[in-house]
Amino acid sequence: MNLTSLSFVIPFFNEKGSLPELIEQLYIAMRDPELQRLFDGSFSFEIILVDDGSTDGSAELARSMITDRPELSLISFQRNFGKTAALTAGFRAAQGSVVCTLDADLQDDPASIRPLVAKLFEGYDLVSGWKKDRKDPPGKTVPSRLFNVVTRLFTGIPIHDFNCGLKVYRREVTKRLELHGEMHRYIPVLAGWNGFRITELPVNHRPRKFGSTKFGTGRFFAGLFDFLAVLFITRYFRRPMHFFGMAGLVSFLSGFTISLYVTLDKLLNHKPVSNRPILFLGILLIILGAQLFSTGLLGEMLSTSAPGANQFTIRETYNLSEKQEEEVRSQ
Ligand code: UDP
Ligand code: MG
Repeated sequence: MNLTSLSFVIPFFNEKGSLPELIEQLYIAMRDPELQRLFDGSFSFEIILVDDGSTDGSAELARSMITDRPELSLISFQRNFGKTAALTAGFRAAQGSVVCTLDADLQDDPASIRPLVAKLFEGYDLVSGWKKDRKDPPGKTVPSRLFNVVTRLFTGIPIHDFNCGLKVYRREVTKRLELHGEMHRYIPVLAGWNGFRITELPVNHRPRKFGSTKFGTGRFFAGLFDFLAVLFITRYFRRPMHFFGMAGLVSFLSGFTISLYVTLDKLLNHKPVSNRPILFLGILLIILGAQLFSTGLLGEMLSTSAPGANQFTIRETYNLSEKQEEEVRSQ
């Protein structure tokens, strides 16, 4: 039995302008008796703020807000490790039976929390917000729509908005997720791959009032490589040989066939080997095949023994329980 009903995990990177209002709005949302009724028994919540190496004084601000709010706690990173790492740290600390993530920039509306939790209790493990009416400039919304279509197509997870900051999870999901790189964009994919039941619900989205977006054009490449990584992880992570082995085999056999043909042509028809460009293709394919094959073998060895890589360094924490402290720092 969990003592905490609802854990908020809020990553922030230089969000001084919005933090006080966000906390204010969250506390108001938590006083909603209808939300509290959704949880059997007594209702309690915690808010875990994760400072992802802010340099604008938001960490100090967060710390000062903790003083008269026992529900608040703070994990502060040494430097900016990225939203994925911040979420991972928060997930480790979260003790609630339900975990809710939220962006710190006030774009996600705390009033959407109750419907999301209600949906979760209908029998889902993860309910993802859907910024149906997104309040962002076209420079963000257009690539994002493309990203969502491609991801939906390739992964078969039928939701519209993979990267919405507002999501609610059963604790089992957040404890199970292993996120790397900038994979927060693919949380629904990874959760779905683990067999968790996922759905989405339209949520209210608001324009950014303070500060600026933290994701520039660099995110396209980060997103692309993470996409390939996610595809690989969800399909071949535990069996890399199936991927590399097959490619290696095809390459090797094609190369072998070409070389055999060139050799037989020489032996039977006395055609010289020296002026046949295709010979190089044959050699190339054989070498490539052997390399792919050994990459697969190495991958197979790694995948059976890989420990989780150390993803972040913590500067300091405030108001975490001993248990939380231990879980956050376990790498
Ligand atoms: N964020 C973070 N670390 C980063 C970048 C962003 O913790 O390296 C936080 C940011 O402070 C915000 C959330 O992630 O709370 C979403 O970021 P942002 O609003 O900039 O993304 P956008 O809404 O523009 O996609
Ligand atoms: Mg935002």
